[in-house]
Amino acid sequence: MEEHTTFVENLVKDILVNVGKIEPALATNGLINRGSYYDGTKILHPDEYDYHPILALSQYITDVTNASERHEDDGKRKIRINVNKLPNPLPPKCLGTINENGEAEFKTNELLYMLSATISAALEHMETQGTVKLNPRFKQYRRNEIQNTGMHGPAVRLRVGAPLGTTDIDLCFCLKLEPHELGPSVHIINTEHIPFGFWTESVVELPNSDEYKLTPPHRKLFLTLKYVSNLTRLLGSQCRISSYALRTLIIHHQQDCRASNLGECFISIIDKLMTKSDEERNSDFHDDEYNYDEEFIYLYDSNGWGIQNTIFPGKSFPLHGVRIHLLISMVWIIQHIKLNRSNNWWNVFLSNNVTEIRRNRILQTLMDGLNKYNKFDQSRNASKYLRLEWQHDDKNSVVMIQRVLFPFVPFVSSVN
Ligand SMILES: [Zn+2]
Repeated sequence: MEEHTTFVENLVKDILVNVGKIEPALATNGLINRGSYYDGTKILHPDEYDYHPILALSQYITDVTNASERHEDDGKRKIRINVNKLPNPLPPKCLGTINENGEAEFKTNELLYMLSATISAALEHMETQGTVKLNPRFKQYRRNEIQNTGMHGPAVRLRVGAPLGTTDIDLCFCLKLEPHELGPSVHIINTEHIPFGFWTESVVELPNSDEYKLTPPHRKLFLTLKYVSNLTRLLGSQCRISSYALRTLIIHHQQDCRASNLGECFISIIDKLMTKSDEERNSDFHDDEYNYDEEFIYLYDSNGWGIQNTIFPGKSFPLHGVRIHLLISMVWIIQHIKLNRSNNWWNVFLSNNVTEIRRNRILQTLMDGLNKYNKFDQSRNASKYLRLEWQHDDKNSVVMIQRVLFPFVPFVSSVN
């Protein structure tokens, strides 16, 4: 395990040195370890590592302003650099118009392409030196075989054959500027808004308080939900909730958690996910809360649901694409724990062995439910309701999903 991580870390350092040699303007002078491997919340194998290489040109940044004029900070920034002071010039295509003071904004999409192309060139160079081998197949990575597999959000993703197996490495280059008031931060290229041009601030070291960091019991809850969402995806649904959004959901829950055990926290998250956003609450749609003593469960499937970012209150994560998938799995789990005498499905569930899971008669009903919802979700013109029914020992659970499409996607608001 340690050998695996050391292998990855040395490889990353080697790549960054070569990137700086090939394109001195893209030299880096620091590396921040991010992601679940480093914060100890990785489930399953260490097959993904995240890094923020710090661009040395950070020191020539002259101006940082908020990109939007919204009242609450959404973390989006416009950044200008003093082009005249750069010891190694950036190609003009990466820069906007240079003003009379020699300052320009970045063309962040060009910068991203250039980073990716330079990494590929670095890998080719390393191959000539015998340190790595490019994998022409783009699959079945043997040890030391590597490829740049393209952009993964604002990161360049490399896939490599490492000691414990094929591993993805995300290199998300950043600028390191003045710290945020909560702690050290970096600025990464914002790829959510087309055309590119903005940067997003990300705080890399948060204060040690319940407001920002998960308490030990809630770390367990986080790992549990990560596992559930991972499995939901493996069972064929499109549930792709980011770790960051999931963590934020739990941070909100943590603020007013009165639960005495993990099960109660789990149910409280179901409640939170079932609660309507402020805009929706005023509408005259059916309203219900999760009552786990009842066998009839009503889920409200709308296109405007999100959670507020706890660090940048002006920003929220839209969750409407994953919320119902996750709720189906979570409600299924609770109903089966409560109403089935035998819980041997649980061990299979925890095995993370998809073949075993698919073969299990009880777990198949979860998979069927998720598949039915997938079809329902994709057929936009069909019925407004989907009914799922699960047979327990003596009783049945009925889950009724009502689709409510707003004529417009309402501004995603927070649910607290
Ligand atoms: Zn809790």
